[in-house]
Amino acid sequence: MIRKTRLFTPGPTPLLPAAQFAMAAADLHHRTAEFRAMYTRVLAQLKEFVGSKSDVIVLSSSGTGAMEASVSNLTSPGDRVLVLSAGKFGERWSALAKAFGCQVDLVSAPYGGTFSLDEVRAALKLETRAVFMQATETSTGVRHCVPGVAALLKELKSEAVLVVDAITGLGTTHIDMDAWGIDVLIGGSQKAVMIPPGLSYLAVSDRAWERMEATYNPRYYFDLRKERKNAKNGESAYTPSVSLIAGLGAALDYIAAQGGGDLAKGRAMLVENAETISAMTRAAVLALGCTLFAPDAPSAAATAVLPPKGVDSGVFVKELKSRFGAIITNGQGEMKGQIFRIAHLGFFDYLDTISLIGALEQVVHSSAELKVAVPGFKFGDALIAAQKVFAERKADEAAQNKCLCGRSSACCSMQHSAAK
Ligand SMILES: *Cc1c(COP(=O)(O)O)cnc(C)c1O
Repeated sequence: MIRKTRLFTPGPTPLLPAAQFAMAAADLHHRTAEFRAMYTRVLAQLKEFVGSKSDVIVLSSSGTGAMEASVSNLTSPGDRVLVLSAGKFGERWSALAKAFGCQVDLVSAPYGGTFSLDEVRAALKLETRAVFMQATETSTGVRHCVPGVAALLKELKSEAVLVVDAITGLGTTHIDMDAWGIDVLIGGSQKAVMIPPGLSYLAVSDRAWERMEATYNPRYYFDLRKERKNAKNGESAYTPSVSLIAGLGAALDYIAAQGGGDLAKGRAMLVENAETISAMTRAAVLALGCTLFAPDAPSAAATAVLPPKGVDSGVFVKELKSRFGAIITNGQGEMKGQIFRIAHLGFFDYLDTISLIGALEQVVHSSAELKVAVPGFKFGDALIAAQKVFAERKADEAAQNKCLCGRSSACCSMQHSAAK
């Protein structure tokens, strides 16, 4: 068999062909009218994609650059900040805040879990200046309740700005920055927007822009106020990643076209797409004797899977790659060998999902180790489970009996329905 390499990884994700062509054609200088027209258009599209009235800033960096910019621009040394962490990316917030001299209070949940709002309430102090969290923690496949945390900050009339790493949350989970009161919402190019790594973007609220007037942590390349000033003239402060910006424009055109020309509708379809194929994947892996690593609040960005007892997760990673060219990811750090992760964000569809599930069945069938671990295995079990999920899924299922954060469990007692 020949192998076609396909990425099922939570960043980088598969590339949109139209974006690749746009990138290849983007041979232009960044201090020209041509670039200014393109950049201005992409920034406006991005604002619609993010779904906020706030200015969106684009940085030529991976996602962590925008995380660092949020810390360096919004805090001063000695500031008390709260980090909500349940995995590797939550830990990155702590490390970043410490690197910029903040005093970090931490609410953490075991890997695979999420924190309760009561814990967040107990950890918030009068002097907390910022709260940092993920919308979806990619290392464990869990979804956090962003609207719950936002509502809590409002209820307590907290001075803290809420910074949300939605790098895998944007385009996979419903987020309403302005209505909920998020101050900074961060995205990255190699995730749901279907282009290569190298761009990060952040929507910044008025409150956060005001905060920046008084903070004094060091910043230079990632000076958001400088970028904002330049963006108003259609430019970036330094040489931007021109080709990626062209690719982003093409990707946002594609997403808008999916929504009949409406980017907000296209984003909602992208979210529903991820919700559907993640639900198919969850049903399929359960039918293969696996269990979910984050069963209570699974994210639609990526599914983290515990293999059958006694089996190293690397078996799935290795077999899928060597036999079918399908690239999934192992666990990060100490989770290596314990879980494997399958991504659903961006340019994945029904056919990609069904194919991968078919390949997973082949892996279970042909591995002696897995055959012993899954004694009742029959071809078709996982495919049937996924097919049923797809066929029985109602168009607006995502909105039914769910918290606004998208979780099916009643994750918090906030009146999310009021904001609907
Ligand atoms: C991918 C990702 C990031 C950013 O990582 P980079 O390698 O810097 O792009 C941050 N947070 C989450 C949740 C991610 O999935």
